[in-house]
Amino acid sequence: MPSIRAPASKKTATLLVAVKCRPLTEAERRRSRSIIQVFDDKNVVVLDPDLSKDYLDRIQNRTKEKRYCFDHVFGHECTNSDVYKSVRSTITGVIQGLNATVFAYGSTGSGKTYTMAGTQNDPGLMVLSLNTIFELIKTDKSSDNFEVSCSYLEVYNEVIYDLLEKSSGYLELREDPEHGIVVAGLRSIKVQSADRILELLNLGNSRRKTESTEANQTSSRSHAVLEITVKRKQKNQHRSQILRGKLALVDLAGSERASETNSGGQKLRDGSNINRSLLALANCINALGKHQKKGLAYVPYRNRYYTIVLCSKLTRILKDGLSGNSQTVMIATISPADDQYHHTVNTLKYADRAKEIKTHVHKNIGIIDTHVADYQKMIDSLQVEVCRLRKELAEKESLNVKPVEKTSNDEISWLNALSQETGENVQERINLQKALFELEETNLRNRTELQHLDDAITKNKVRDLAYLNTS
Ligand code: ADP
Ligand code: MG
Repeated sequence: MPSIRAPASKKTATLLVAVKCRPLTEAERRRSRSIIQVFDDKNVVVLDPDLSKDYLDRIQNRTKEKRYCFDHVFGHECTNSDVYKSVRSTITGVIQGLNATVFAYGSTGSGKTYTMAGTQNDPGLMVLSLNTIFELIKTDKSSDNFEVSCSYLEVYNEVIYDLLEKSSGYLELREDPEHGIVVAGLRSIKVQSADRILELLNLGNSRRKTESTEANQTSSRSHAVLEITVKRKQKNQHRSQILRGKLALVDLAGSERASETNSGGQKLRDGSNINRSLLALANCINALGKHQKKGLAYVPYRNRYYTIVLCSKLTRILKDGLSGNSQTVMIATISPADDQYHHTVNTLKYADRAKEIKTHVHKNIGIIDTHVADYQKMIDSLQVEVCRLRKELAEKESLNVKPVEKTSNDEISWLNALSQETGENVQERINLQKALFELEETNLRNRTELQHLDDAITKNKVRDLAYLNTS
């Protein structure tokens, strides 16, 4: 089966960064207050949690108040559907062969899983994205064929597990020349509906490593990556072209430092490993953001970013989303509670840096799949085409050449006819001349004879008269 990679034009895209602030939980409401203020859906202010700071401190800049501006900021009253509206246009590109990555970044308990998976009443971005993909496929007017497949993995303690396998072993990362970073042996299941993926998602989520932490009863101790691949087969007369769009939906573990998860032993080890990945991710965001802010068009190989990427499984999996071929959305989740000030500012600092990250988006136009039978059809139709063109050419040639021939032939035959006619005329004239000479000769002879006869008559008359006179 021959495969040809068609060229595709690249477009530089900037990371879309949105901030989502969750409401205060019941427990927080009892012990803390909100320090988050949202303005114009784009600006967020984190107030100084220290209430003792007065007006003078504020105007003399002695407070810890911070202001940030993002593509979108969603306050505690916003639902996941509100957040999704800002992401939807990125998701729709997936059925056109574009890659998209959506990841939630924030400390434990800030609302990452709520934003990505959601609840029955407030479905998350994973659910809403899948609904969009299947809705678009259903209402597509073209005759293209779609194939949707899904994989779900987690990175826990720097080890990759398949969440779609009951008891998955360790999986390894490989660099594939065609598809980039791939997880060897990861199960990819073909799916026909969003509901089927949600079933798989729930099954996978039940297998995720969770622990109860102070921040969250069932805190995800691993990073989970749900990947949806949409293959679109476009058929025209001679070939079938495949567009291959990939959507990565990432629910990260908490971004706080291990010591802050308030756990010990095994938990501390989990925490430090989770954070090694996240630290790498944060450093990546930092390095990429700083690099691109300086106006450097690309990140050179073997610089700090690559060292960071290569040392962490998570960053290697997210490499496309962070600097490669992907339209990427970062949802920074924050808690409004005053005792979370430090985490909130930390999250917003990385989110602010992520605004500078640029990716290079291009369609995965791909692989042209042509069977031998298709080639035979191509050859047959090309031969018919060649015959038709030959005939056309011959007709054109005859149209151009014949009038000239006709003219010269006509002239020649006309000249021939003319010369023949002239010859005939000349002969006729000669004949007539001859006849004239003969007639003149005859006339002359007749005259002479007539003269002789006249002479003879005259002689006879004279003799008769003389005879009479004598007789
Ligand atoms: P994370 O995944 O970041 O550790 P979770 O998503 O598990 O955090 O959220 C922590 C708690 O906050 C959960 O009890 C969750 O139900 C609640 N929560 C998060 N976001 C929202 C929201 N937008 N509306 C209501 N409750 C929320
Ligand atoms: Mg979570």
